[in-house]
Amino acid sequence: MIIDAHTHLFSPNVITQRAQYAERDTFFGYLYASPKARTIGVVELLTAMDASGVDRAVVAGWAWQNHDVCVEQNTWLIEIARQHRARLSVLCTVQPNAGDAAIRELRRCVESGLVGVGELNADGQGFRLDDAAFLQLARAASEMGVPLMLHTNEPVGHLYPGKGRLSLAEIYAFVRQVPDLHLVLAHWGGGYPFYELMPEVRAASQNVFYDTAASPLLYAPDVFRVVVNLVGADKVLFGSDYPLILYPRRQKEPDMRPFLDEVRAVGLSDEEQRKILGENAARVFGL
Ligand SMILES: [Zn+2]
Repeated sequence: MIIDAHTHLFSPNVITQRAQYAERDTFFGYLYASPKARTIGVVELLTAMDASGVDRAVVAGWAWQNHDVCVEQNTWLIEIARQHRARLSVLCTVQPNAGDAAIRELRRCVESGLVGVGELNADGQGFRLDDAAFLQLARAASEMGVPLMLHTNEPVGHLYPGKGRLSLAEIYAFVRQVPDLHLVLAHWGGGYPFYELMPEVRAASQNVFYDTAASPLLYAPDVFRVVVNLVGADKVLFGSDYPLILYPRRQKEPDMRPFLDEVRAVGLSDEEQRKILGENAARVFGL
């Protein structure tokens, strides 16, 4: 069973009224003002999954700044999850700064069948990991038994739109505050896995997982072997960041296949591949 644990979907409203949403939400506007940034609907996602042999996708919407937009999009995501139970597992988005309203929204979504919350973005949505409201939300997710997927990025290297300032120190402090939360750090945790070599960090991070979203744009393929050596094959979830174009030099349209081919060619054992390509996501997201 192949699971892509990190994809993004947009409602027909967002796709057809992109300019209005870009105006309402500065973070979305910043990243999606250019028509080159793809927004896709359910049909395109399912078609891409069929073409690449992906059985199931974990779907995130977008990290909206505005609570009301989160709620509106979640209502659509709930509908999508109901219609495509067999193929899609859907996360809700909340604005942690909305406080109790965000927690109520998370509960509504989980009770309606969504499997977690994310991809949240501290820089994009304007919160800090040590904010009381975010900690309260994270504890609520932990109590509801659902994982939280958080955008992270590497603190060094080339700049790109959406690269934020969230630090590894902040992430570690957060992890220690909510050790029971199942936390998926997107984009290889921005380098956090290296510090799992420190016994105290490893002990505190038992419920921290890493997804591989956008990896070909960031790291050499060796990253798979290296991170598995650092944290073990049970903590890595294959995720593409679809519909992001991962190989811009040779790829014009979104396609899940080239990255899957890369993962199968990096020298992982069959067991490691099974875990990374599906079993870990099934466990973490309770699929
Ligand atoms: Zn991300």
